[in-house]
Amino acid sequence: MKKLVVLPGDGIGPEIVQQTLTVVDALRTRFDLALETSEHAFGGAGYDAAGKPLPDETLAACAQADAVLMGAVGGPQYDTLERDLRPERGLLGLRSALDMFSNLRPAMLYPELAAASSLKPELVAGLDIMIVRELTGGIYFGGPRGIEVRDGVRTGFNTMVYSEPEIERIAHSAFAVAMARGKRLCSVDKANVLEVSELWREVVTRVGADYPEVELSHMYVDNAAMQLVRDPRQFDVMVTSNLFGDVLSDCAAMLTGSIGMLPSASLNSDGHGLYEPVHGSAPDIAGQNVANPLAAILSLAMALRYSLGEAAQADRIERAVGEVLAQGLRTADIANGADAIGTAEMGSAVVAALN
Ligand code: NAD
Repeated sequence: MKKLVVLPGDGIGPEIVQQTLTVVDALRTRFDLALETSEHAFGGAGYDAAGKPLPDETLAACAQADAVLMGAVGGPQYDTLERDLRPERGLLGLRSALDMFSNLRPAMLYPELAAASSLKPELVAGLDIMIVRELTGGIYFGGPRGIEVRDGVRTGFNTMVYSEPEIERIAHSAFAVAMARGKRLCSVDKANVLEVSELWREVVTRVGADYPEVELSHMYVDNAAMQLVRDPRQFDVMVTSNLFGDVLSDCAAMLTGSIGMLPSASLNSDGHGLYEPVHGSAPDIAGQNVANPLAAILSLAMALRYSLGEAAQADRIERAVGEVLAQGLRTADIANGADAIGTAEMGSAVVAALN
């Protein structure tokens, strides 16, 4: 049986994860989902329980799991800890221990929430794109790097570097995502200026031969930024390097206007993944039953689709979320001042809408 490790974490993490687990229970009892779950301490809660944000027992459980679902980590009470003990370190440690190089950031906008976008509703209603960002290489990690004096002038420098195997594995990851979605992949680079992008384009094209069903296109990053705000629905899956993906995925997220709705994933080459909402632990609203649990619930849907081989169950969750929004149910963050329901009520509404 597939294993899902659950890390509630801090702040609103435990509340939104609790609602997500009610969805898992409903899928098990009503729709025959075979999935084993176990909960472990992580982040600030890991520090409280075991003196470090990523306790050994938690890491061992995550390494054995097919997928890991995290709520959120962090909180003001942990901000004064020495750097290595802070909750965010646990997250970086987990991503690097499991070699998660492929970051999936969907931007989807249920038609009912189109008014929340900074773009005109008719441009974004029904938006559903996925940005696959290379997460462990590129200019953020490349050397040489530094600040030095050159001919008497202080000079800063970094190196954008990708090897063929690094490009191959992110390309395979992105093509696999495209196969699980609309079978269209746009690779974003700057091959007209950068040699590293020239190699990127060549290798992505070569890997594409293994995926004849996927329609591959290439776009320069400046044009991609423009197209994302001009006509974002033209895209299905986009794949790009660490730096370009950092910028484009935040831009795409803002097209949706509601951070409480956005899931994300980081995958390794075995397809094992860490699934988490894009938002943080929201200490300002923790424990008040007002947090939106939908990003966490949609993170579960992503885990089912990309790591657990349960695409039909993922569809079921995404349909149920659409259904509760169509019923007019909203948590405060997406209510636009109108009547709002609580975290637990939203979780129950999703469970009731599963069919
Ligand atoms: P945040 O995302 O936690 O909160 C930003 C704003 O959005 C807040 O007003 C919050 O109330 C609101 N918000 C966030 N999620 C919401 C939800 N599900 N429903 C309703 N409203 C929601 O970002 P922040 O305030 O910058 O950071 C708070 C803590 O979270 C910090 O300790 C930070 O380090 C941590 N953080 C963790 C992660 C993570 O776990 N991956 C990511 C970002 C920030």
